[in-house]
Amino acid sequence: MAGRSHEGYAVYTSAFDDHSPRRLTLMSELRQALERDELQIYYQPKVAVGSGRLYGAEALVRWNHPKHGFVPPDEFIPMAERTRMIKHLTLWALKQTFRQCAEWHRQGLDLIVSVNLSARDLHDPELPDIIAGVAAASRVQPSWMMLEITESSIMTDPERSLDIIQRLHDMGYKLSIDDFGTGYSSLAYLKKMPLTELKIDKSFVGDVLKSDNDAVIVKATINLAHNLGLQVTAEGVENQQILDMLDDYACDLAQGYYLSKPIGLEDFNQWMRLEAA
Ligand code: C2E
Ligand code: CA
Ligand code: CA
Ligand code: CA
Repeated sequence: MAGRSHEGYAVYTSAFDDHSPRRLTLMSELRQALERDELQIYYQPKVAVGSGRLYGAEALVRWNHPKHGFVPPDEFIPMAERTRMIKHLTLWALKQTFRQCAEWHRQGLDLIVSVNLSARDLHDPELPDIIAGVAAASRVQPSWMMLEITESSIMTDPERSLDIIQRLHDMGYKLSIDDFGTGYSSLAYLKKMPLTELKIDKSFVGDVLKSDNDAVIVKATINLAHNLGLQVTAEGVENQQILDMLDDYACDLAQGYYLSKPIGLEDFNQWMRLEAA
Protein backbone atom coordinates (compact mmCIF):
# COMPACT_ATOMS: atom_id res chain seq x y z
CA MET A 1 0.00 0.00 0.00
CA ALA A 2 2.95 2.29 0.56
CA GLY A 3 3.22 5.09 -1.94
CA ARG A 4 -0.32 4.71 -3.21
CA SER A 5 -2.41 7.57 -2.04
CA HIS A 6 -5.66 5.97 -2.99
CA GLU A 7 -8.39 7.76 -1.10
CA GLY A 8 -9.70 4.51 0.27
CA TYR A 9 -6.56 3.90 2.34
CA ALA A 10 -5.20 7.35 2.90
CA VAL A 11 -8.05 8.50 5.07
CA TYR A 12 -7.56 6.06 7.92
CA THR A 13 -6.40 8.82 10.24
CA SER A 14 -7.71 10.51 13.34
CA ALA A 15 -10.28 12.61 11.47
CA PHE A 16 -12.08 9.41 10.53
CA ASP A 17 -11.63 7.52 13.77
CA ASP A 18 -15.23 8.38 14.54
CA HIS A 19 -16.18 5.59 12.13
CA SER A 20 -14.62 2.85 14.20
CA PRO A 21 -17.37 0.53 15.47
CA ARG A 22 -16.61 1.26 19.10
CA ARG A 23 -16.82 4.99 18.59
CA LEU A 24 -19.99 4.79 16.58
CA THR A 25 -21.63 2.80 19.35
CA LEU A 26 -20.36 5.16 22.02
CA MET A 27 -21.64 8.12 20.07
CA SER A 28 -25.09 6.66 19.67
CA GLU A 29 -25.14 5.87 23.40
CA LEU A 30 -23.97 9.22 24.71
CA ARG A 31 -27.37 10.80 24.81
CA GLN A 32 -28.85 7.91 26.77
CA ALA A 33 -25.82 7.90 29.00
CA LEU A 34 -26.57 11.49 29.95
CA GLU A 35 -30.14 10.56 30.84
CA ARG A 36 -29.13 7.42 32.69
CA ASP A 37 -26.59 9.10 34.94
CA GLU A 38 -23.66 7.18 33.49
CA LEU A 39 -21.72 10.39 33.29
CA GLN A 40 -20.18 11.85 36.36
CA ILE A 41 -18.22 14.96 37.23
CA TYR A 42 -14.85 14.53 38.87
CA TYR A 43 -13.23 17.48 40.61
CA GLN A 44 -9.54 18.31 40.65
CA PRO A 45 -8.38 20.82 43.27
CA LYS A 46 -6.65 24.05 42.31
CA VAL A 47 -4.28 25.27 44.98
CA ALA A 48 -2.41 28.54 45.59
CA VAL A 49 1.29 27.88 44.94
CA GLY A 50 2.69 30.02 47.73
CA SER A 51 0.29 29.32 50.60
CA GLY A 52 -1.13 25.94 49.61
CA ARG A 53 -4.60 27.34 50.17
CA LEU A 54 -7.43 25.71 48.22
CA TYR A 55 -8.68 28.05 45.50
CA GLY A 56 -11.23 25.89 43.73
CA ALA A 57 -11.64 22.92 41.44
CA GLU A 58 -11.83 22.02 37.79
CA ALA A 59 -14.78 19.87 36.75
CA LEU A 60 -13.77 16.97 34.48
CA VAL A 61 -16.36 14.65 33.02
CA ARG A 62 -16.14 10.84 33.34
CA TRP A 63 -18.20 8.19 31.59
CA ASN A 64 -18.77 5.02 33.53
CA HIS A 65 -20.01 2.81 30.72
CA PRO A 66 -21.93 -0.35 31.72
CA LYS A 67 -20.06 -2.48 29.14
CA HIS A 68 -16.78 -0.70 28.37
CA GLY A 69 -16.17 0.48 31.90
CA PHE A 70 -14.46 3.79 32.31
CA VAL A 71 -14.24 5.74 29.03
CA PRO A 72 -11.89 8.74 29.21
CA PRO A 73 -13.14 12.15 28.02
CA ASP A 74 -10.53 12.32 25.28
CA GLU A 75 -12.40 9.45 23.65
CA PHE A 76 -15.88 10.94 23.50
CA ILE A 77 -15.54 14.72 23.80
CA PRO A 78 -13.81 15.31 20.45
CA MET A 79 -16.44 13.05 18.91
CA ALA A 80 -19.30 14.87 20.61
CA GLU A 81 -17.80 18.13 19.37
CA ARG A 82 -18.18 17.05 15.76
CA THR A 83 -21.85 16.36 16.27
CA ARG A 84 -24.45 18.36 18.11
CA MET A 85 -24.11 16.16 21.17
CA ILE A 86 -21.60 18.49 22.78
CA LYS A 87 -24.34 21.00 23.40
CA HIS A 88 -26.22 18.47 25.54
CA LEU A 89 -23.07 17.42 27.32
CA THR A 90 -22.07 21.01 28.09
CA LEU A 91 -25.53 21.81 29.38
CA TRP A 92 -25.46 18.74 31.59
CA ALA A 93 -21.99 19.63 32.93
CA LEU A 94 -23.03 23.23 33.59
CA LYS A 95 -26.10 22.11 35.54
CA GLN A 96 -24.11 19.68 37.68
CA THR A 97 -21.26 22.03 38.46
CA PHE A 98 -23.32 25.15 39.06
CA ARG A 99 -25.56 23.26 41.46
CA GLN A 100 -22.55 21.82 43.28
CA CYS A 101 -20.83 25.18 43.45
CA ALA A 102 -23.93 26.76 44.97
CA GLU A 103 -24.04 23.94 47.51
CA TRP A 104 -20.40 24.51 48.55
CA HIS A 105 -21.06 28.20 48.97
CA ARG A 106 -24.10 27.43 51.14
CA GLN A 107 -21.71 25.42 53.30
CA GLY A 108 -19.43 28.43 53.56
CA LEU A 109 -16.81 27.05 51.18
CA ASP A 110 -15.63 29.86 49.00
CA LEU A 111 -14.56 27.82 45.94
CA ILE A 112 -14.19 28.88 42.34
CA VAL A 113 -15.37 26.05 40.10
CA SER A 114 -14.02 25.74 36.55
CA VAL A 115 -15.98 24.17 33.71
CA ASN A 116 -14.57 23.29 30.30
CA LEU A 117 -16.27 24.65 27.22
CA SER A 118 -15.64 23.27 23.75
CA ALA A 119 -14.99 25.18 20.54
CA ARG A 120 -18.53 24.61 19.33
CA ASP A 121 -19.96 26.02 22.56
CA LEU A 122 -17.88 29.11 22.11
CA HIS A 123 -19.28 29.70 18.65
CA ASP A 124 -22.89 29.24 19.74
CA PRO A 125 -24.61 32.62 20.12
CA GLU A 126 -27.14 30.99 22.48
CA LEU A 127 -24.43 30.06 25.01
CA PRO A 128 -24.69 33.17 27.22
CA ASP A 129 -28.47 32.74 27.57
CA ILE A 130 -28.07 29.03 28.26
CA ILE A 131 -25.58 29.78 31.01
CA ALA A 132 -27.77 32.52 32.44
CA GLY A 133 -30.62 30.03 32.67
CA VAL A 134 -28.52 27.45 34.50
CA ALA A 135 -27.16 30.09 36.88
CA ALA A 136 -30.64 31.34 37.75
CA ALA A 137 -31.91 27.81 38.41
CA SER A 138 -28.94 26.91 40.62
CA ARG A 139 -28.63 30.29 42.40
CA VAL A 140 -24.99 30.49 41.65
CA GLN A 141 -23.22 33.82 41.39
CA PRO A 142 -21.32 34.16 38.11
CA SER A 143 -18.18 35.27 39.94
CA TRP A 144 -17.95 31.82 41.56
CA MET A 145 -17.60 30.18 38.16
CA MET A 146 -14.66 30.05 35.80
CA LEU A 147 -15.25 29.04 32.19
CA GLU A 148 -12.26 27.37 30.53
CA ILE A 149 -11.83 27.89 26.83
CA THR A 150 -8.96 26.58 24.78
CA GLU A 151 -6.60 28.70 22.80
CA SER A 152 -7.42 26.78 19.61
CA SER A 153 -11.19 27.19 19.97
CA ILE A 154 -10.77 30.95 20.19
CA MET A 155 -8.50 31.09 17.19
CA THR A 156 -10.78 29.14 14.83
CA ASP A 157 -13.14 32.12 14.81
CA PRO A 158 -11.68 34.92 16.91
CA GLU A 159 -14.27 37.59 16.13
CA ARG A 160 -17.24 35.44 17.02
CA SER A 161 -15.51 33.98 20.09
CA LEU A 162 -14.58 37.45 21.29
CA ASP A 163 -18.21 38.54 21.11
CA ILE A 164 -19.38 35.58 23.21
CA ILE A 165 -16.47 35.90 25.64
CA GLN A 166 -17.26 39.58 26.08
CA ARG A 167 -20.87 38.79 26.88
CA LEU A 168 -19.90 36.15 29.44
CA HIS A 169 -17.43 38.55 31.01
CA ASP A 170 -20.10 41.28 31.20
CA MET A 171 -22.35 38.78 32.99
CA GLY A 172 -19.65 38.37 35.64
CA TYR A 173 -18.06 35.03 34.72
CA LYS A 174 -14.36 34.40 35.10
CA LEU A 175 -12.70 33.20 31.93
CA SER A 176 -9.63 31.05 31.63
CA ILE A 177 -7.59 30.28 28.56
CA ASP A 178 -6.74 26.59 28.69
CA ASP A 179 -3.90 24.62 27.12
CA PHE A 180 -1.94 27.78 26.61
CA GLY A 181 1.09 27.34 24.41
CA THR A 182 -0.21 24.38 22.44
CA GLY A 183 -2.03 26.34 19.74
CA TYR A 184 -1.31 29.46 17.80
CA SER A 185 -2.84 32.37 19.53
CA SER A 186 -2.27 35.86 18.47
CA LEU A 187 -1.20 38.08 21.32
CA ALA A 188 -3.23 40.85 19.70
CA TYR A 189 -6.40 38.83 20.30
CA LEU A 190 -5.34 37.71 23.73
CA LYS A 191 -5.01 41.33 24.72
CA LYS A 192 -8.54 42.07 23.55
CA MET A 193 -10.10 39.19 25.48
CA PRO A 194 -11.41 40.00 28.96
CA LEU A 195 -9.72 36.99 30.56
CA THR A 196 -9.10 36.23 34.24
CA GLU A 197 -6.65 33.39 33.95
CA LEU A 198 -4.15 31.71 31.72
CA LYS A 199 -3.48 27.99 32.18
CA ILE A 200 -0.11 26.67 31.16
CA ASP A 201 -0.44 23.32 29.46
CA LYS A 202 0.84 20.28 31.31
CA SER A 203 3.15 19.37 28.41
CA PHE A 204 5.37 22.33 29.39
CA VAL A 205 4.93 22.02 33.13
CA GLY A 206 5.72 18.31 33.20
CA ASP A 207 9.15 18.79 31.63
CA VAL A 208 10.09 21.97 33.42
CA LEU A 209 12.82 20.22 35.45
CA LYS A 210 14.27 18.24 32.55
CA SER A 211 14.12 20.77 29.75
CA ASP A 212 15.69 24.23 29.90
CA ASN A 213 13.50 25.26 26.99
CA ASP A 214 10.32 24.35 28.82
CA ALA A 215 11.52 26.15 31.93
CA VAL A 216 12.08 29.27 29.82
CA ILE A 217 8.63 28.93 28.25
CA VAL A 218 6.91 28.48 31.60
CA LYS A 219 8.72 31.41 33.15
CA ALA A 220 8.07 33.69 30.16
CA THR A 221 4.40 32.67 30.01
CA ILE A 222 3.92 33.51 33.69
CA ASN A 223 5.49 36.91 33.15
CA LEU A 224 3.45 37.52 30.00
CA ALA A 225 0.22 36.64 31.80
CA HIS A 226 1.06 38.86 34.77
CA ASN A 227 1.88 41.73 32.43
CA LEU A 228 -1.55 41.27 30.84
CA GLY A 229 -3.10 41.34 34.31
CA LEU A 230 -4.01 37.64 34.36
CA GLN A 231 -3.57 35.04 37.07
CA VAL A 232 -1.70 31.88 36.08
CA THR A 233 -2.49 28.24 36.78
CA ALA A 234 0.06 25.57 35.98
CA GLU A 235 -1.54 22.20 35.25
CA GLY A 236 0.21 18.83 35.39
CA VAL A 237 2.13 19.46 38.62
CA GLU A 238 3.41 16.00 39.50
CA ASN A 239 5.98 16.58 42.23
CA GLN A 240 7.28 18.97 44.89
CA GLN A 241 10.24 20.11 42.78
CA ILE A 242 7.92 21.41 40.08
CA LEU A 243 5.85 23.16 42.72
CA ASP A 244 8.99 24.78 44.15
CA MET A 245 10.05 25.94 40.72
CA LEU A 246 6.61 27.43 40.09
CA ASP A 247 6.89 29.23 43.40
CA ASP A 248 10.24 30.71 42.28
CA TYR A 249 8.55 31.88 39.09
CA ALA A 250 5.71 33.48 41.09
CA CYS A 251 3.06 31.25 39.50
CA ASP A 252 -0.28 31.80 41.23
CA LEU A 253 -2.07 28.45 41.17
CA ALA A 254 -1.23 24.81 40.65
CA GLN A 255 -3.18 21.76 39.66
CA GLY A 256 -1.85 18.24 39.23
CA TYR A 257 -1.53 14.68 40.46
CA TYR A 258 0.95 15.73 43.15
CA LEU A 259 -1.79 17.78 44.80
CA SER A 260 -4.65 15.47 43.85
CA LYS A 261 -5.95 13.55 40.87
CA PRO A 262 -9.45 14.44 39.70
CA ILE A 263 -11.77 12.67 42.18
CA GLY A 264 -15.47 12.06 42.66
CA LEU A 265 -17.57 14.42 44.76
CA GLU A 266 -17.44 12.41 47.98
CA ASP A 267 -13.70 11.96 47.74
CA PHE A 268 -13.30 15.65 47.00
CA ASN A 269 -15.30 16.63 50.08
CA GLN A 270 -13.23 14.19 52.12
CA TRP A 271 -10.01 15.62 50.63
CA MET A 272 -11.09 19.11 51.71
CA ARG A 273 -11.78 17.93 55.26
CA LEU A 274 -8.33 16.33 55.49
CA GLU A 275 -6.64 19.41 54.04
CA ALA A 276 -8.44 21.67 56.49
CA ALA A 277 -7.55 19.46 59.46
P1 C2E B 1 -7.96 19.60 30.12
O1 C2E B 1 -9.08 20.57 30.25
O2 C2E B 1 -6.65 20.14 29.67
O3 C2E B 1 -7.85 18.89 31.53
C1 C2E B 1 -6.65 18.52 32.13
C2 C2E B 1 -6.37 17.04 31.94
O4 C2E B 1 -5.11 16.74 32.55
C3 C2E B 1 -7.39 16.14 32.64
O5 C2E B 1 -7.54 14.97 31.85
C4 C2E B 1 -6.68 15.80 33.96
O6 C2E B 1 -7.13 14.59 34.53
C5 C2E B 1 -5.26 15.70 33.49
N1 C2E B 1 -4.31 15.94 34.57
C6 C2E B 1 -4.49 16.67 35.69
N2 C2E B 1 -3.36 16.69 36.46
C7 C2E B 1 -2.45 15.94 35.80
C8 C2E B 1 -1.08 15.57 36.08
O7 C2E B 1 -0.49 15.95 37.09
N3 C2E B 1 -0.46 14.81 35.14
C9 C2E B 1 -1.09 14.38 34.00
N4 C2E B 1 -0.41 13.62 33.16
N5 C2E B 1 -2.38 14.71 33.72
C10 C2E B 1 -3.04 15.48 34.61
P2 C2E B 1 -8.96 14.33 31.60
O8 C2E B 1 -9.81 14.44 32.83
O9 C2E B 1 -8.74 12.98 31.02
O10 C2E B 1 -9.61 15.28 30.51
C11 C2E B 1 -9.06 15.37 29.23
C12 C2E B 1 -9.65 16.50 28.46
O11 C2E B 1 -11.03 16.26 28.18
C13 C2E B 1 -9.62 17.84 29.19
O12 C2E B 1 -8.35 18.40 29.10
C14 C2E B 1 -10.69 18.59 28.44
O13 C2E B 1 -10.18 19.13 27.25
C15 C2E B 1 -11.68 17.51 28.10
N6 C2E B 1 -12.81 17.56 29.06
C16 C2E B 1 -12.95 16.97 30.26
N7 C2E B 1 -14.15 17.24 30.81
C17 C2E B 1 -14.79 18.04 29.93
C18 C2E B 1 -16.08 18.67 29.90
O14 C2E B 1 -16.90 18.57 30.83
N8 C2E B 1 -16.38 19.42 28.78
C19 C2E B 1 -15.50 19.59 27.75
N9 C2E B 1 -15.87 20.36 26.70
N10 C2E B 1 -14.29 19.04 27.75
C20 C2E B 1 -13.93 18.26 28.82
CA1 CA C 1 -9.38 22.45 31.26
CA1 CA D 1 -5.53 22.08 30.06
CA1 CA E 1 -5.70 19.47 27.47
